[in-house]
Amino acid sequence: FAKEQGKNGAQQFKSGLRTKYDEKLKIEKRLRRAVRKKLFTLVYQPQLDLIKQRVIGVEALLRWEDEELGHVSPLTFIPIAEETGLIIHLGDWVLEEACLQAKKWSEEGLELRMGVNISPQQFQRPDFVNKVKQTISKVGLAPRLLDLEITENDLLYNRSECIRTLHRLKEEGICISIDDFGTGYSSLSYLRQFPVDTLKIDKSFIKEVIINKKDQAIVTSIIQLAHNMKMKVVAEGVENIDTLPFLTERHCDEMQGYLYSKPLVAERVKAYLEAKNPQLLLA
Ligand code: C2E
Ligand code: MG
Ligand code: MG
Ligand code: MG
Repeated sequence: FAKEQGKNGAQQFKSGLRTKYDEKLKIEKRLRRAVRKKLFTLVYQPQLDLIKQRVIGVEALLRWEDEELGHVSPLTFIPIAEETGLIIHLGDWVLEEACLQAKKWSEEGLELRMGVNISPQQFQRPDFVNKVKQTISKVGLAPRLLDLEITENDLLYNRSECIRTLHRLKEEGICISIDDFGTGYSSLSYLRQFPVDTLKIDKSFIKEVIINKKDQAIVTSIIQLAHNMKMKVVAEGVENIDTLPFLTERHCDEMQGYLYSKPLVAERVKAYLEAKNPQLLLA
C-alpha cells in the first residue's frame, strides 16, 4: 500500500513538473509570436509630485492579452522574455512606444516624464546607450522626459561598465531611477558611485508603513539617504490615504499607487488627469 502511495506521489510530482514545464514552454511559444506580431499594449500609471500637488510623470507598464492564454502578468512573462532573449526586441518596442506616447502628449501640451522599465539584458548590451539615443532622436522626445528604471541588483555586476553606461545616459540628459529600492543587495558604497536621479522605494515597505514601525524606519531612512545624496524619492504602491501625511511629513518627493490611479490606457490618461484633481487628494 505504502509503495503504491509512494509511486502515486512520485507520479503526481512528475506530472506536476511536467505541467509547469509545459506551461512555460507554451508561454514562450506564444510570447515569441506576440513579439513578432507586436501584440502588446502599454498602460501608464501616474506619478504625483507631493509638493507641486500634480501629476508630473507616468510609468509605462507592459500588458499582454493572448488569444489562447488570456491575460498574462508581466511578473510571469518578463522573466521568460529575459531568459529567452526575447526581452531585447520587446524592450526596444516598449522604449519606442513609450517615447512616441510621451512625444504625442507633449505636442498636445501635456508634458509628462515617461518612466520605462529596463531589464538587465537590455542595459548590459554594448549598444544600449546608442539604442536609447537613436530612439529619442527619431521620436524627437526631449531627453529629460525619459526616465529609465533599473533595479539595484542589475547594477551589481560589471560595476564600472554600469557606471560608465549611466554616465553616458546622464550626459544625454536622460533621467535614471533605481526601481524597487531596498529589496536588492547593493551596498551604500555602490549607490554612492551611481549617477542616479531617483530612488523608488519598493512597495513592500509602503504597504503597511502606517502600522509597521520597522517599515517606518526604513522609509524614513531611504528618504533621508536619497536627499543627502541629492536624489529624489518616489514611494511606490501607495494604496492608502493615511500613508500620505507620513510621506509628506518626511518630504518624500513623489508617489505612485492605486490610491491615485491604477495604470491607465493612453486614451484615458488626459481625461483622468483633468477629472481627478490631485489637490483634492493631497489637501
Ligand atoms: P515595477 O517596475 O516595480 O512596477 C510597479 C508595479 O506595481 C506594477 O505592476 C504596477 O501595476 C504595480 N502597482 C502600482 N501601484 C500599485 C499599488 O498601489 N499596489 C500594488 N499592489 N501594486 C501596484 P505590473 O504592471 O504587474 O508590473 C510588474 C513588474 O513587471 C514591474 O514592476 C516591472 O518590474 C515588470 N515590468 C512591467 N512592464 C515592464 C517593461 O516594459 N519592461 C520590463 N523590463 N519590465 C516590466
Ligand atoms: Mg518600475
Ligand atoms: Mg521594474
Ligand atoms: Mg518597482
